[in-house]
Amino acid sequence: MKSRATALAGAGLLLAVGVGFGIALTARAQQQEHFGYQDTPMLPGGKWHVHDGTRPQPKIIDPGTASTQDTPGKPPSDAIVLFDGKDLSHWKAGNGGPAGWKVENGYMEVAPKSGSIISRDEFSDCQMHVEWCEPTTIRGRDQGRGNSGVIFFGKYEIQVLDSYESKTYPDGQAAAIYGSYPPLVNAMRKQGEWQVYDILFTAPRFDGDKLVKPGYFTVFHNGVAVHNHAELLGDSNHRALPSYTLHTSKGPLLLQDHGNPVRFRNIWYRELKDYDQP
Ligand code: MG
Repeated sequence: MKSRATALAGAGLLLAVGVGFGIALTARAQQQEHFGYQDTPMLPGGKWHVHDGTRPQPKIIDPGTASTQDTPGKPPSDAIVLFDGKDLSHWKAGNGGPAGWKVENGYMEVAPKSGSIISRDEFSDCQMHVEWCEPTTIRGRDQGRGNSGVIFFGKYEIQVLDSYESKTYPDGQAAAIYGSYPPLVNAMRKQGEWQVYDILFTAPRFDGDKLVKPGYFTVFHNGVAVHNHAELLGDSNHRALPSYTLHTSKGPLLLQDHGNPVRFRNIWYRELKDYDQP
């Protein structure tokens, strides 16, 4: 039978070995933290070398999950959620009062003639995710069938329309940059199925009252690229040329009431910053 002293000495030895092993591991980990090179050419901008290991590590996020027809997906962990199916707390009416659209079963629905709704959040460059669904009871034609809109800053509209086996002027169909560009293809699902827009928006820049950089849209409709870094020509207009009007660097998202009961769900955005920003 071991004496108490022997047992304590044994434990002490184990502890010492453990600490030593820990130090070795930490040293190895520190060694492994040295990545890349400092003797490589400087990249344009003069801040980072090619393969510069001291360049900030990108922030780790949870990418979330994709939606199915039955269930909305989970937004990325750094997304700002504008509508999660429960209420319109992130939205207001045009007059600043409460948004008047219907919320049920995890979606919101345009209440015709209640007016467009506007996000309380304002943002600049972003990745915007919007899901929408056309009524299964088909009413009207052309611009009168299932019309709504996803309108950045209340000015730059990605059209929402029932363009499933239904024609209109191409720069006014679903996924068009209204009044400027038709989508590259018509990627519509049929009425009653959820459609997905993933939109990259670069806000236009003004200096005083002068436009110094136009805005851009890159848009995926149901995962299909329909605009590839399209330069905005200005505010979306009806029967008139698009033209820029001065605005501040941030703005809200507007969802259009065009008199048709279109549904929306799972709306979120992520701010897009420059590289190497936290
Ligand atoms: Mg519209």
